[in-house]
Amino acid sequence: MSVVGDVIDKIKQKDPYEFEFHQAAEEVLLTLEPTTQKHPEFVKAKIYERIVEPDRVITFRVPWMDDKGDVQVNRGFRVQFNNAIGPYKGGLRFHPSVNLSILKFLGFEQIFKNSLTTLPMGGAKGGSDFDPKGKSDTEVMRFCQSFMRELFRHIGPDTDVPAGDIGVGAREIGYLYGYYKKLINEHTGVLTGKRLEYGGSLIRPEATGYGCVYFAAEMLSWRGLDFKGKTVAISGSGNVAQYAVEKVNRLGGKVITLCDSSSTIVDEAGIDYEKCEYVMELKNVRRGRISEYADKYSSSSCCYIGESVWDVIKNQGIKVDIALPCATQNEIDESHAEALVKNGCICVSEGANMPSTPEAIRVYQDNGIIYGPGKAANAGGVATSGLEMSQNSMRLSWPREEVDARLLQIMKSIHKACLDAAAEYGKEGDYVLGANIAGFMKVANSMLAFGI
Ligand code: GLU
Repeated sequence: MSVVGDVIDKIKQKDPYEFEFHQAAEEVLLTLEPTTQKHPEFVKAKIYERIVEPDRVITFRVPWMDDKGDVQVNRGFRVQFNNAIGPYKGGLRFHPSVNLSILKFLGFEQIFKNSLTTLPMGGAKGGSDFDPKGKSDTEVMRFCQSFMRELFRHIGPDTDVPAGDIGVGAREIGYLYGYYKKLINEHTGVLTGKRLEYGGSLIRPEATGYGCVYFAAEMLSWRGLDFKGKTVAISGSGNVAQYAVEKVNRLGGKVITLCDSSSTIVDEAGIDYEKCEYVMELKNVRRGRISEYADKYSSSSCCYIGESVWDVIKNQGIKVDIALPCATQNEIDESHAEALVKNGCICVSEGANMPSTPEAIRVYQDNGIIYGPGKAANAGGVATSGLEMSQNSMRLSWPREEVDARLLQIMKSIHKACLDAAAEYGKEGDYVLGANIAGFMKVANSMLAFGI
Protein backbone atom coordinates (compact mmCIF):
# COMPACT_ATOMS: atom_id res chain seq x y z
CA MET A 1 0.00 0.00 0.00
CA SER A 2 1.35 3.47 -0.89
CA VAL A 3 1.81 6.11 1.79
CA VAL A 4 -1.04 8.26 0.51
CA GLY A 5 -3.29 5.24 -0.12
CA ASP A 6 -2.80 4.27 3.48
CA VAL A 7 -3.78 7.74 4.69
CA ILE A 8 -6.88 7.76 2.47
CA ASP A 9 -7.94 4.39 3.92
CA LYS A 10 -7.43 5.65 7.45
CA ILE A 11 -9.59 8.77 7.09
CA LYS A 12 -12.36 6.69 5.52
CA GLN A 13 -12.24 4.26 8.42
CA LYS A 14 -12.13 6.96 11.09
CA ASP A 15 -15.06 9.04 9.78
CA PRO A 16 -16.97 6.81 7.38
CA TYR A 17 -19.73 9.31 6.58
CA GLU A 18 -17.66 12.39 5.77
CA PHE A 19 -18.06 11.92 2.01
CA GLU A 20 -17.24 15.48 0.91
CA PHE A 21 -14.12 15.49 3.05
CA HIS A 22 -13.02 12.10 1.67
CA GLN A 23 -13.50 13.42 -1.87
CA ALA A 24 -11.40 16.55 -1.24
CA ALA A 25 -8.68 14.71 0.70
CA GLU A 26 -8.42 11.87 -1.82
CA GLU A 27 -8.19 14.31 -4.74
CA VAL A 28 -5.28 16.14 -3.09
CA LEU A 29 -3.47 13.12 -1.66
CA LEU A 30 -3.46 11.14 -4.91
CA THR A 31 -1.72 13.99 -6.71
CA LEU A 32 0.80 14.29 -3.84
CA GLU A 33 1.99 10.71 -4.37
CA PRO A 34 5.13 11.73 -6.35
CA THR A 35 6.22 14.03 -3.48
CA THR A 36 6.53 10.98 -1.20
CA GLN A 37 9.42 9.69 -3.34
CA LYS A 38 11.11 13.05 -3.67
CA HIS A 39 10.71 13.94 0.02
CA PRO A 40 11.26 10.94 2.28
CA GLU A 41 11.56 13.44 5.15
CA PHE A 42 7.81 14.21 4.76
CA VAL A 43 7.01 10.49 4.93
CA LYS A 44 9.18 10.03 8.02
CA ALA A 45 7.52 12.97 9.81
CA LYS A 46 4.06 11.61 8.79
CA ILE A 47 3.18 14.95 7.16
CA TYR A 48 0.53 13.28 4.95
CA GLU A 49 -1.28 11.77 7.92
CA ARG A 50 -0.95 14.97 9.95
CA ILE A 51 -2.21 17.32 7.25
CA VAL A 52 -5.60 15.59 6.96
CA GLU A 53 -6.31 15.93 10.68
CA PRO A 54 -7.61 19.41 11.64
CA ASP A 55 -5.70 21.24 14.39
CA ARG A 56 -9.03 21.83 16.12
CA VAL A 57 -12.77 21.48 15.48
CA ILE A 58 -15.10 23.71 17.45
CA THR A 59 -18.85 23.04 17.48
CA PHE A 60 -21.34 25.03 19.46
CA ARG A 61 -25.02 25.72 20.10
CA VAL A 62 -26.52 28.84 18.51
CA PRO A 63 -29.87 29.70 20.15
CA TRP A 64 -31.77 32.73 18.84
CA MET A 65 -35.26 34.15 18.89
CA ASP A 66 -37.29 34.49 15.69
CA ASP A 67 -39.71 37.35 14.97
CA LYS A 68 -42.63 35.38 16.41
CA GLY A 69 -40.83 35.10 19.76
CA ASP A 70 -40.07 31.40 19.32
CA VAL A 71 -36.64 30.09 20.28
CA GLN A 72 -34.66 28.45 17.45
CA VAL A 73 -31.51 26.38 17.86
CA ASN A 74 -28.82 25.94 15.21
CA ARG A 75 -25.39 24.38 15.25
CA GLY A 76 -22.25 26.50 14.77
CA PHE A 77 -18.81 25.26 13.65
CA ARG A 78 -15.27 26.46 13.15
CA VAL A 79 -12.76 24.02 11.72
CA GLN A 80 -9.26 25.39 12.37
CA PHE A 81 -7.47 23.07 10.00
CA ASN A 82 -3.86 24.18 9.74
CA ASN A 83 -1.95 27.31 10.82
CA ALA A 84 1.55 26.29 9.72
CA ILE A 85 2.08 29.30 7.45
CA GLY A 86 -0.15 31.96 9.05
CA PRO A 87 -3.25 32.61 11.15
CA TYR A 88 -6.28 30.45 10.33
CA LYS A 89 -8.20 32.04 7.48
CA GLY A 90 -11.37 31.08 5.66
CA GLY A 91 -15.03 31.86 5.24
CA LEU A 92 -18.21 31.15 7.15
CA ARG A 93 -21.03 29.38 5.32
CA PHE A 94 -24.66 29.69 6.45
CA HIS A 95 -26.71 27.09 4.59
CA PRO A 96 -29.03 24.25 5.66
CA SER A 97 -26.66 21.69 4.10
CA VAL A 98 -23.75 22.68 6.37
CA ASN A 99 -22.28 19.82 8.40
CA LEU A 100 -18.84 18.79 9.62
CA SER A 101 -17.96 16.88 6.46
CA ILE A 102 -18.61 19.90 4.24
CA LEU A 103 -16.70 22.25 6.52
CA LYS A 104 -13.77 19.84 6.77
CA PHE A 105 -13.63 19.60 2.97
CA LEU A 106 -13.75 23.39 2.66
CA GLY A 107 -11.19 23.94 5.44
CA PHE A 108 -8.86 21.37 3.89
CA GLU A 109 -9.07 23.00 0.45
CA GLN A 110 -8.44 26.35 2.09
CA ILE A 111 -5.01 25.21 3.36
CA PHE A 112 -3.69 24.76 -0.19
CA LYS A 113 -5.59 27.67 -1.69
CA ASN A 114 -4.30 30.09 0.93
CA SER A 115 -0.78 28.80 0.53
CA LEU A 116 -1.00 29.41 -3.24
CA THR A 117 -1.96 33.07 -2.76
CA THR A 118 1.66 33.84 -1.73
CA LEU A 119 0.31 35.44 1.49
CA PRO A 120 0.80 34.07 5.03
CA MET A 121 -2.58 32.50 5.79
CA GLY A 122 -3.47 29.13 7.29
CA GLY A 123 -6.61 27.16 6.42
CA ALA A 124 -9.99 27.19 8.21
CA LYS A 125 -13.71 27.20 7.54
CA GLY A 126 -16.81 27.59 9.64
CA GLY A 127 -20.50 28.23 9.52
CA SER A 128 -23.88 26.95 10.50
CA ASP A 129 -26.89 25.01 9.23
CA PHE A 130 -28.85 28.27 9.61
CA ASP A 131 -30.66 29.32 6.42
CA PRO A 132 -30.70 33.12 5.94
CA LYS A 133 -33.14 32.70 3.04
CA GLY A 134 -36.61 33.89 4.02
CA LYS A 135 -35.41 35.36 7.35
CA SER A 136 -35.94 39.00 8.26
CA ASP A 137 -32.99 41.33 8.83
CA THR A 138 -33.60 41.28 12.58
CA GLU A 139 -33.68 37.48 12.63
CA VAL A 140 -30.38 37.36 10.74
CA MET A 141 -28.96 39.94 13.17
CA ARG A 142 -30.03 37.98 16.26
CA PHE A 143 -28.63 34.79 14.77
CA CYS A 144 -25.28 36.44 13.91
CA GLN A 145 -25.00 37.91 17.40
CA SER A 146 -25.66 34.56 19.03
CA PHE A 147 -23.16 32.89 16.67
CA MET A 148 -20.48 35.46 17.54
CA ARG A 149 -21.24 35.22 21.28
CA GLU A 150 -19.47 31.84 21.17
CA LEU A 151 -17.11 32.24 18.20
CA PHE A 152 -15.40 35.40 19.51
CA ARG A 153 -13.31 33.49 22.04
CA HIS A 154 -11.73 31.34 19.31
CA ILE A 155 -10.78 34.03 16.77
CA GLY A 156 -8.57 37.13 16.58
CA PRO A 157 -6.62 39.15 14.01
CA ASP A 158 -3.49 37.02 14.56
CA THR A 159 -5.31 33.81 15.49
CA ASP A 160 -8.16 33.15 13.09
CA VAL A 161 -9.77 35.56 10.63
CA PRO A 162 -13.17 34.45 9.25
CA ALA A 163 -14.91 35.97 6.22
CA GLY A 164 -17.96 35.28 4.06
CA ASP A 165 -18.94 32.30 1.95
CA ILE A 166 -22.34 31.05 0.74
CA GLY A 167 -25.09 32.80 2.77
CA VAL A 168 -22.65 35.20 4.44
CA GLY A 169 -22.30 38.55 2.67
CA ALA A 170 -21.73 42.16 3.70
CA ARG A 171 -24.91 42.22 5.84
CA GLU A 172 -23.93 39.18 7.92
CA ILE A 173 -20.29 40.33 8.21
CA GLY A 174 -21.62 43.67 9.52
CA TYR A 175 -23.67 42.03 12.28
CA LEU A 176 -20.86 39.62 13.18
CA TYR A 177 -18.18 42.31 13.24
CA GLY A 178 -20.37 44.78 15.15
CA TYR A 179 -21.01 42.24 17.86
CA TYR A 180 -17.36 41.14 18.06
CA LYS A 181 -16.39 44.80 18.49
CA LYS A 182 -18.89 45.15 21.34
CA LEU A 183 -17.61 42.03 23.10
CA ILE A 184 -13.89 42.80 22.75
CA ASN A 185 -14.02 46.60 22.62
CA GLU A 186 -11.38 46.64 19.90
CA HIS A 187 -11.42 47.55 16.22
CA THR A 188 -9.24 44.90 14.58
CA GLY A 189 -8.93 43.03 11.30
CA VAL A 190 -10.66 40.02 12.84
CA LEU A 191 -13.06 39.53 9.93
CA THR A 192 -12.59 40.29 6.25
CA GLY A 193 -15.22 41.20 3.70
CA LYS A 194 -16.10 44.22 5.84
CA ARG A 195 -17.76 47.24 4.28
CA LEU A 196 -15.40 49.95 3.19
CA GLU A 197 -16.54 52.42 5.84
CA TYR A 198 -15.28 50.36 8.77
CA GLY A 199 -12.11 48.76 7.39
CA GLY A 200 -13.02 46.76 4.32
CA SER A 201 -10.96 46.67 1.16
CA LEU A 202 -11.87 47.96 -2.26
CA ILE A 203 -12.24 45.10 -4.78
CA ARG A 204 -12.96 42.49 -2.04
CA PRO A 205 -16.58 41.97 -3.24
CA GLU A 206 -15.38 41.63 -6.82
CA ALA A 207 -12.25 39.61 -6.06
CA THR A 208 -13.36 35.97 -6.39
CA GLY A 209 -15.22 36.57 -9.67
CA TYR A 210 -12.49 38.79 -11.13
CA GLY A 211 -9.79 36.37 -9.97
CA CYS A 212 -11.52 33.38 -11.57
CA VAL A 213 -11.65 35.20 -14.90
CA TYR A 214 -8.04 36.45 -14.56
CA PHE A 215 -6.97 32.86 -13.95
CA ALA A 216 -8.91 31.61 -16.99
CA ALA A 217 -7.42 34.42 -19.11
CA GLU A 218 -3.95 33.42 -17.96
CA MET A 219 -4.55 29.74 -18.82
CA LEU A 220 -5.87 30.76 -22.25
CA SER A 221 -3.08 33.21 -22.92
CA TRP A 222 -0.46 30.56 -22.17
CA ARG A 223 -1.93 28.74 -25.18
CA GLY A 224 -2.24 31.83 -27.37
CA LEU A 225 -5.98 32.20 -26.75
CA ASP A 226 -8.23 34.81 -25.08
CA PHE A 227 -11.84 35.64 -24.13
CA LYS A 228 -12.61 37.73 -27.22
CA GLY A 229 -15.72 36.47 -28.99
CA LYS A 230 -16.00 33.40 -26.71
CA THR A 231 -19.34 32.17 -25.41
CA VAL A 232 -19.21 31.66 -21.66
CA ALA A 233 -21.48 29.65 -19.35
CA ILE A 234 -21.52 30.84 -15.73
CA SER A 235 -23.50 29.15 -12.94
CA GLY A 236 -24.72 30.83 -9.77
CA SER A 237 -25.90 34.42 -9.42
CA GLY A 238 -24.24 35.46 -6.17
CA ASN A 239 -21.21 37.56 -5.55
CA VAL A 240 -18.78 35.34 -7.45
CA ALA A 241 -20.94 34.88 -10.56
CA GLN A 242 -21.96 38.54 -10.81
CA TYR A 243 -18.43 39.89 -10.93
CA ALA A 244 -17.26 37.07 -13.19
CA VAL A 245 -19.94 38.22 -15.66
CA GLU A 246 -18.68 41.80 -15.45
CA LYS A 247 -15.05 40.81 -16.07
CA VAL A 248 -15.86 38.43 -18.95
CA ASN A 249 -17.78 41.27 -20.64
CA ARG A 250 -14.80 43.57 -20.18
CA LEU A 251 -12.48 41.02 -21.79
CA GLY A 252 -14.76 40.70 -24.81
CA GLY A 253 -16.54 37.42 -24.01
CA LYS A 254 -20.29 36.79 -24.09
CA VAL A 255 -21.94 35.29 -20.99
CA ILE A 256 -25.13 33.42 -21.79
CA THR A 257 -26.19 31.72 -18.52
CA LEU A 258 -26.82 32.30 -14.83
CA CYS A 259 -28.81 30.28 -12.28
CA ASP A 260 -30.02 30.07 -8.71
CA SER A 261 -31.21 27.08 -6.70
CA SER A 262 -34.53 26.92 -8.54
CA SER A 263 -33.91 27.94 -12.15
CA THR A 264 -31.50 28.70 -14.98
CA ILE A 265 -31.66 31.48 -17.53
CA VAL A 266 -30.09 31.23 -20.96
CA ASP A 267 -29.73 34.52 -22.81
CA GLU A 268 -28.25 33.94 -26.25
CA ALA A 269 -27.96 37.72 -26.80
CA GLY A 270 -25.50 37.87 -23.91
CA ILE A 271 -25.78 39.12 -20.33
CA ASP A 272 -24.31 42.61 -20.66
CA TYR A 273 -23.66 45.32 -18.02
CA GLU A 274 -27.23 46.53 -17.88
CA LYS A 275 -28.66 43.04 -17.51
CA CYS A 276 -25.99 42.09 -15.00
CA GLU A 277 -26.84 45.14 -12.93
CA TYR A 278 -30.47 44.06 -12.92
CA VAL A 279 -29.38 40.65 -11.58
CA MET A 280 -27.31 42.33 -8.86
CA GLU A 281 -30.26 44.46 -7.90
CA LEU A 282 -32.49 41.40 -7.84
CA LYS A 283 -30.07 39.47 -5.65
CA ASN A 284 -28.69 42.20 -3.42
CA VAL A 285 -31.54 44.56 -2.75
CA ARG A 286 -34.74 42.61 -3.00
CA ARG A 287 -33.21 39.14 -2.80
CA GLY A 288 -35.28 38.29 -5.87
CA ARG A 289 -35.17 35.10 -7.91
CA ILE A 290 -33.30 34.64 -11.15
CA SER A 291 -36.55 33.69 -12.93
CA GLU A 292 -37.58 37.37 -12.70
CA TYR A 293 -34.74 38.08 -15.15
CA ALA A 294 -36.46 36.00 -17.80
CA ASP A 295 -39.64 38.04 -17.37
CA LYS A 296 -37.79 41.31 -17.93
CA TYR A 297 -35.65 40.13 -20.85
CA SER A 298 -38.12 37.69 -22.35
CA SER A 299 -37.28 38.54 -25.99
CA SER A 300 -33.75 37.09 -25.76
CA SER A 301 -33.82 34.72 -22.81
CA CYS A 302 -35.32 31.41 -21.80
CA CYS A 303 -35.90 30.21 -18.25
CA TYR A 304 -35.57 26.54 -17.26
CA ILE A 305 -37.21 25.73 -13.94
CA GLY A 306 -35.65 23.02 -11.79
CA GLU A 307 -32.55 22.62 -13.97
CA SER A 308 -28.97 23.73 -13.36
CA VAL A 309 -26.90 25.50 -16.02
CA TRP A 310 -25.12 22.19 -16.67
CA ASP A 311 -28.42 20.27 -17.01
CA VAL A 312 -29.62 22.83 -19.56
CA ILE A 313 -26.38 22.65 -21.59
CA LYS A 314 -26.70 18.86 -21.57
CA ASN A 315 -30.41 18.68 -22.36
CA GLN A 316 -30.60 21.51 -24.91
CA GLY A 317 -27.19 21.02 -26.55
CA ILE A 318 -26.10 24.62 -26.02
CA LYS A 319 -22.69 25.54 -27.47
CA VAL A 320 -20.18 27.05 -25.02
CA ASP A 321 -16.47 27.79 -25.30
CA ILE A 322 -15.70 28.43 -21.64
CA ALA A 323 -17.41 27.26 -18.42
CA LEU A 324 -17.09 29.07 -15.09
CA PRO A 325 -18.90 27.09 -12.37
CA CYS A 326 -19.54 29.64 -9.60
CA ALA A 327 -22.37 28.02 -7.60
CA THR A 328 -21.47 25.14 -5.26
CA GLN A 329 -19.69 21.82 -4.74
CA ASN A 330 -20.29 18.88 -7.10
CA GLU A 331 -22.55 20.86 -9.43
CA ILE A 332 -20.87 19.33 -12.54
CA ASP A 333 -21.00 15.53 -12.76
CA GLU A 334 -19.58 13.19 -15.38
CA SER A 335 -22.55 13.52 -17.74
CA HIS A 336 -22.40 17.33 -17.53
CA ALA A 337 -18.67 17.27 -18.28
CA GLU A 338 -19.29 15.00 -21.27
CA ALA A 339 -21.94 17.45 -22.49
CA LEU A 340 -19.44 20.31 -22.16
CA VAL A 341 -16.95 18.39 -24.30
CA LYS A 342 -19.63 17.59 -26.87
CA ASN A 343 -20.74 21.22 -27.03
CA GLY A 344 -17.30 22.59 -27.77
CA CYS A 345 -16.02 23.70 -24.36
CA ILE A 346 -12.25 24.27 -24.30
CA CYS A 347 -11.72 25.69 -20.80
CA VAL A 348 -13.18 25.30 -17.28
CA SER A 349 -12.15 27.69 -14.50
CA GLU A 350 -13.76 27.08 -11.10
CA GLY A 351 -15.16 30.05 -9.16
CA ALA A 352 -16.81 27.74 -6.61
CA ASN A 353 -15.10 25.26 -4.29
CA MET A 354 -14.92 21.71 -5.74
CA PRO A 355 -17.78 22.26 -8.25
CA SER A 356 -16.64 19.31 -10.41
CA THR A 357 -16.88 15.69 -9.26
CA PRO A 358 -13.75 13.51 -9.64
CA GLU A 359 -15.41 11.78 -12.62
CA ALA A 360 -16.05 15.15 -14.29
CA ILE A 361 -12.40 16.14 -13.79
CA ARG A 362 -11.33 12.92 -15.46
CA VAL A 363 -13.52 13.78 -18.46
CA TYR A 364 -11.87 17.23 -18.73
CA GLN A 365 -8.41 15.69 -18.53
CA ASP A 366 -9.11 12.88 -21.00
CA ASN A 367 -10.49 15.36 -23.53
CA GLY A 368 -7.82 18.04 -23.29
CA ILE A 369 -10.05 20.69 -21.65
CA ILE A 370 -7.92 23.42 -20.05
CA TYR A 371 -8.95 23.01 -16.43
CA GLY A 372 -8.25 25.37 -13.51
CA PRO A 373 -9.31 23.79 -10.17
CA GLY A 374 -11.04 25.98 -7.58
CA LYS A 375 -8.08 26.02 -5.22
CA ALA A 376 -6.15 28.01 -7.78
CA ALA A 377 -8.90 29.66 -9.84
CA ASN A 378 -11.00 31.01 -6.96
CA ALA A 379 -8.10 32.00 -4.70
CA GLY A 380 -8.60 35.67 -5.62
CA GLY A 381 -11.26 36.09 -2.93
CA VAL A 382 -9.17 34.96 -0.01
CA ALA A 383 -6.08 36.64 -1.51
CA THR A 384 -7.89 39.96 -1.38
CA SER A 385 -8.98 39.13 2.16
CA GLY A 386 -5.25 38.82 2.86
CA LEU A 387 -4.79 42.28 1.33
CA GLU A 388 -7.61 43.57 3.58
CA MET A 389 -5.72 42.17 6.59
CA SER A 390 -2.55 43.95 5.47
CA GLN A 391 -4.40 47.25 5.07
CA ASN A 392 -6.03 46.83 8.51
CA SER A 393 -2.66 46.18 10.17
CA MET A 394 -1.16 49.23 8.48
CA ARG A 395 -4.26 51.37 9.19
CA LEU A 396 -4.32 52.21 5.50
CA SER A 397 -6.72 51.90 2.62
CA TRP A 398 -5.30 51.25 -0.82
CA PRO A 399 -6.96 52.67 -3.94
CA ARG A 400 -9.04 50.40 -6.18
CA GLU A 401 -6.36 50.27 -8.90
CA GLU A 402 -3.72 49.15 -6.43
CA VAL A 403 -5.79 46.31 -4.98
CA ASP A 404 -6.88 45.17 -8.45
CA ALA A 405 -3.28 45.25 -9.72
CA ARG A 406 -2.15 43.18 -6.72
CA LEU A 407 -5.01 40.71 -7.29
CA LEU A 408 -4.05 40.31 -10.96
CA GLN A 409 -0.42 39.83 -9.98
CA ILE A 410 -1.36 37.18 -7.39
CA MET A 411 -3.49 35.27 -9.92
CA LYS A 412 -0.56 35.34 -12.35
CA SER A 413 1.82 34.05 -9.65
CA ILE A 414 -0.59 31.25 -8.79
CA HIS A 415 -0.78 30.30 -12.44
CA LYS A 416 3.00 30.26 -12.70
CA ALA A 417 3.42 28.30 -9.44
CA CYS A 418 1.00 25.64 -10.75
CA LEU A 419 2.80 25.34 -14.06
CA ASP A 420 6.25 25.24 -12.43
CA ALA A 421 5.25 22.50 -9.98
CA ALA A 422 3.55 20.51 -12.74
CA ALA A 423 6.66 20.79 -14.93
CA GLU A 424 8.94 19.78 -12.05
CA TYR A 425 6.94 16.57 -11.67
CA GLY A 426 6.84 15.89 -15.42
CA LYS A 427 3.14 16.80 -15.87
CA GLU A 428 3.35 19.86 -18.11
CA GLY A 429 0.17 22.00 -18.00
CA ASP A 430 -1.56 19.90 -15.30
CA TYR A 431 -3.10 22.54 -13.00
CA VAL A 432 -4.61 19.95 -10.63
CA LEU A 433 -1.29 18.39 -9.76
CA GLY A 434 0.47 21.76 -9.98
CA ALA A 435 -1.91 23.54 -7.58
CA ASN A 436 -1.91 20.72 -5.05
CA ILE A 437 1.85 20.26 -4.99
CA ALA A 438 2.69 23.99 -5.05
CA GLY A 439 0.20 24.66 -2.22
CA PHE A 440 1.41 21.65 -0.23
CA MET A 441 5.16 22.30 -0.33
CA LYS A 442 5.10 25.52 1.71
CA VAL A 443 2.84 24.02 4.36
CA ALA A 444 4.74 20.72 4.53
CA ASN A 445 8.13 22.43 4.84
CA SER A 446 6.78 24.66 7.64
CA MET A 447 5.29 21.69 9.50
CA LEU A 448 8.61 19.91 9.17
CA ALA A 449 10.49 22.94 10.53
CA PHE A 450 8.26 23.03 13.62
CA GLY A 451 9.06 19.44 14.61
CA ILE A 452 6.52 17.03 15.98
N1 GLU B 1 -15.06 31.86 1.21
C1 GLU B 1 -14.02 32.30 0.35
C2 GLU B 1 -13.22 31.10 -0.13
O1 GLU B 1 -13.75 30.02 -0.27
C3 GLU B 1 -13.19 33.43 0.93
C4 GLU B 1 -12.57 33.17 2.25
C5 GLU B 1 -11.89 34.38 2.88
O2 GLU B 1 -11.90 35.45 2.30
O3 GLU B 1 -11.34 34.19 3.97
O4 GLU B 1 -12.05 31.17 -0.40
